[in-house]
Amino acid sequence: MILHADELPPGATLSAEICIVGGGPAGITLALTLARFGHDILLLESGDLEANDATQALNAGEVADETLHSPPDKYRVRCLGGATSIWGGRCMPFNPIDFEARPFVPHSGWPIGYEEVERHYPAANALCEAGEYEYDARLAVSGGMRPLIAGFAPMHFDMNGIERFSCPTHFGDRYRARLRSLPNVRVLLRSTVVRLAASSDGARITQVEARDSKDRPFTVTADQFVVAAGGIETARLLLASHDVHAAGLGNAEDLVGRFYMCHIAGTAGALKVVGGRETVWHGYDVAWDGTYCRRRIALRPDVQRQRGVGNVIFRLHHPRIADPAHETGPLSAIFLAQRFISYEYAKRLVSDAPPTPGLWLRHGFNAVRDAGSTVRFLTHWLRHRTLAARKFPSVIIRPRRNLFSLDFHAEQVPNPDSRITLGNSVDRFGNPQVRIDWRYTRQDVDTVLQAFNLLRGDLAEQGVGTLTLAPNEQDIETVVRRDGAYGGHHIGTARMGASAATGVVDRHGKVFGLSNLFVAGSAIFPTSSQANPTLTIVAMSLRLAEHLRDVAGRVARVRTAVEAVSAD
Ligand SMILES: Cc1cc2nc3c(=O)[nH]c(=O)nc-3n(C[C@H](O)[C@H](O)[C@H](O)COP(=O)(O)OP(=O)(O)OC[C@H]3O[C@@H](n4cnc5c(N)ncnc54)[C@H](O)[C@@H]3O)c2cc1C
Repeated sequence: MILHADELPPGATLSAEICIVGGGPAGITLALTLARFGHDILLLESGDLEANDATQALNAGEVADETLHSPPDKYRVRCLGGATSIWGGRCMPFNPIDFEARPFVPHSGWPIGYEEVERHYPAANALCEAGEYEYDARLAVSGGMRPLIAGFAPMHFDMNGIERFSCPTHFGDRYRARLRSLPNVRVLLRSTVVRLAASSDGARITQVEARDSKDRPFTVTADQFVVAAGGIETARLLLASHDVHAAGLGNAEDLVGRFYMCHIAGTAGALKVVGGRETVWHGYDVAWDGTYCRRRIALRPDVQRQRGVGNVIFRLHHPRIADPAHETGPLSAIFLAQRFISYEYAKRLVSDAPPTPGLWLRHGFNAVRDAGSTVRFLTHWLRHRTLAARKFPSVIIRPRRNLFSLDFHAEQVPNPDSRITLGNSVDRFGNPQVRIDWRYTRQDVDTVLQAFNLLRGDLAEQGVGTLTLAPNEQDIETVVRRDGAYGGHHIGTARMGASAATGVVDRHGKVFGLSNLFVAGSAIFPTSSQANPTLTIVAMSLRLAEHLRDVAGRVARVRTAVEAVSAD
């Protein structure tokens, strides 16, 4: 059933067995799975079926350094489906090394092993609609995928790992009908949770307090509560719920909001591949089930250990769009169309210097001179992206002269000083907005730098190509700063730990010190991996659902026993 809170009588109190706060992929996965296990679920979603300005304004807040991190109302969407309403759909699992306590990565180590998440990946892959759970380029496509660079077998990198693409599936649209049809699920839209109220002894959550879209209050009681509000909002809710726990829920050790990670990601370098156009295949292969798959260049785990660096991957990319020196019509057409592209995607088109009329002219000249390619690109985009159900994932342009740039996507080292706190301004409900102080470290820069140097060496040694950095990119920190925190990945703000001294939640996702409060989503990841987070968010939510089934089963058995004793 899908309702909205404005339909409730004033001051209503609802009750459920399990109350989930947030209807993004984490919350929806939990609701669908727990419903299948037979539980009575109430999912509270702040937004509506579509995003709107009034609700989106609740995401506003401050950023310590706006050159490094986008405003918090960007890259987050308040609607059923959350940020999957705008995500790119890139899926790949974490690697076993991400779960290890690595001496060279401070604060690393999960209290669970890779295998505990791995067993949920196939089902997560299915929910994300990323096709078969097969991430080996030799097996994902019949006959194997084409090599990225023919004959290149680097010493330090693995080239057989791939990323697979979701449709991209908007979880709200895709699973709305299923949620509506389930008799034991109530999805309540326009329900913004403003506080989680703890019992007077602080040991459990008794209810959540929420507001409808007309700001009228209502409350929800439940046996178990799960906060699945995204990596930023989860920290905000825990910190703002400080009536009984003065520092906020789960924050006795001052860990909530700390260790805030995005990914260290960007585009840099000029890679000139030796040989003809046929030497390189940097585009997509299509699996038998229609899923787009793409190879990536991943720094091998043994090399990470040996060099003491984090996890990182590269993708071959077209030259930087903003620089008209690429002389490529379709790229210039994209540059010229940037005002029609959403903030989240246009951000990466920004030129190093403020655009001058001369720059626009040079791009215009490229688009006209290369009109044939521009028209072919636009036709392909319209057919395979705009009008297709399974969308062509990204712009793939064959650059002139086999000259590519490199996309890097690296783990960010957990850093307690990179953090989300409550700011001084308040939202329309009087709740403090967030203040984001995202910080990278020298080690993050070093991981990218070392990976670039190793790849440059491997390419040169095998005579496959030359990799150079432009004068303004020689100091890789300039590149890291230019691209800043990777927009939509919000990680680590309620990290999982072996004890309350090192984590906000335990190995199951339960908040330390509270018997019935759980967190789902990338907030609980202690480390960020090279991988985009959503597949793992969904896998971890499936794992949490299994645990909650056991917890709820125990609660039901105790309740039955108590009722039987009372009846005697
Ligand atoms: C432009 C963009 C591209 C991306 N591309 C990729 C990609 O290619 N691959 C990938 O893996 N990931 C990608 N992501 C990230 C991905 O979208 C997120 O990892 C994912 O959506 C997080 O899921 P979630 O359920 O934890 O949180 P969200 O999706 O943020 O959902 C949280 C939900 O909670 C609701 N909520 C928040 N506060 C409250 C409250 N107080 N009360 C009630 N409800 C509340 C929100 O309205 C929202 O619906 C991208 C993100 C963006 C923005």
